[in-house]
Amino acid sequence: DHVLSEADPEVRAIIDKEKQRQFRHLELIASENFTSRAVMEAVGSHLTNKYSEGLPGKRYYGGNEYIDELEILCQQRALAAFHLDGKKWGVNVQPLSGSPANFEVYTAILNPHDRIMGLDLPHGGHLSHGFMTPKRRVSGTSIYFESMPYRLDESTGATSLLGYIGLVKDECVDMFVADSKFALLSHTGLVDYDMLEKTANLFRPKLIIAGASAYPRDFDYPRMRKIADAVGAFLMMDMAHISGLVAASVVADPFEYCDIVTTTTHKSLRGPRGGMIFFKKDPVLGVDLESAINNAVFPGLQGGPHNHTIGGLTVCLKHAQSPEFKTYQNQVVSNCRALASRLIELGYKLVSGGSDNHLVLVDLRPLGLDGARVEKILEMASITLNKNSVPGDKSALVPGGIRIGTPAMTTRGFTELDFISTADFIHEGVQIAREAKRSVSGSKLQDFMKFVASPDFSLMDRV
Ligand code: PLP
Repeated sequence: DHVLSEADPEVRAIIDKEKQRQFRHLELIASENFTSRAVMEAVGSHLTNKYSEGLPGKRYYGGNEYIDELEILCQQRALAAFHLDGKKWGVNVQPLSGSPANFEVYTAILNPHDRIMGLDLPHGGHLSHGFMTPKRRVSGTSIYFESMPYRLDESTGATSLLGYIGLVKDECVDMFVADSKFALLSHTGLVDYDMLEKTANLFRPKLIIAGASAYPRDFDYPRMRKIADAVGAFLMMDMAHISGLVAASVVADPFEYCDIVTTTTHKSLRGPRGGMIFFKKDPVLGVDLESAINNAVFPGLQGGPHNHTIGGLTVCLKHAQSPEFKTYQNQVVSNCRALASRLIELGYKLVSGGSDNHLVLVDLRPLGLDGARVEKILEMASITLNKNSVPGDKSALVPGGIRIGTPAMTTRGFTELDFISTADFIHEGVQIAREAKRSVSGSKLQDFMKFVASPDFSLMDRV
């Protein structure tokens, strides 16, 4: 602190403000967490000074004796943290983050314009799984590969009624949904595996991607494996959001069924910002994944590894094998269930009706609200979460829901009761948002903001 405050007081001040913000807010962004001091110490260490292109024992520069020791330890801990047999699985710990890791896999096993299928972004998938709109190939993945997304099942007992009204006039659907006590309108919100199967049989992708940024349920890996096998596709899981839960065995294990598993390291895993790629050691569909993936990382798409990140990751992966980590991940899931139940009690509609993991997706459209309005109002109240599209949104520009995650506040010591209070606070914010929408005077909102500025509201005394 002392050195930075002297060398660059401006940057020191910004860091201090950000640290305060992180401590003052209820941090509910599902992809964020608070890493440990030990991890941050490694990330802020001398490891940042060293170039080490290549892999341990095969570097392009000298002086890598200790960097080799570190990267080998990191690989060993990565395999151990995910309960993998080093004879069957290998790992590359150099990807700079989640999106590069995914693109490195595509570069390794696909040719330009090969076909891929990932979960559509408006249905919870990630940009890097091939997002495109009818007008634009948004993600680089969709520029270089042909992408045919699969989606969630939106069907319900009331589909035909909704369809009928939809035919009459779009706005009718709006009014109907906004005003509706017809819970039947809720969609199943689960991946539509039947449709994925049918589409895969026609589209014949070379790669099927499981994994999501906003999906509250486990993927059905056995089913996806079958679909991939039937069309001769690789099956990859991007477990970025749930890798901590996978390490603690509190959700289904993707390694049993997938050929390749990618992850970020900074979400539920609670490490530094980075990425990893796990691959089967035996050839798959005639491809030696180990050399293809290692070559795609370097020299394909990256230069020198970020050794300071690998240092932090190695520390994180030691934590990830501890009993405390398992307790933490169990608490993440219990907290999410408590949050989901309370929101349902309060009358909210959750996509898929609940959660198996660390996040819930709340569909605000039955209340006549969009996610952006609620995100904004809650931000004023020191509650940080994000607007999120929900299945059935007519426009990606007006996301109809919010995503709420439990990993970060669980790290801060929140238990079920705290998440019940959190649901109540969110509910209060939503009510304000509804009144603001009906453009009631600002005074109630001002009272609310005064209330949330008080220490009670931000729960500072609890964490
Ligand atoms: N994959 C998934 C499922 C994600 O949710 C994210 C980020 O949110 C990524 C990949 C990309 O990670 P990064 O932001 O580190 O590139």
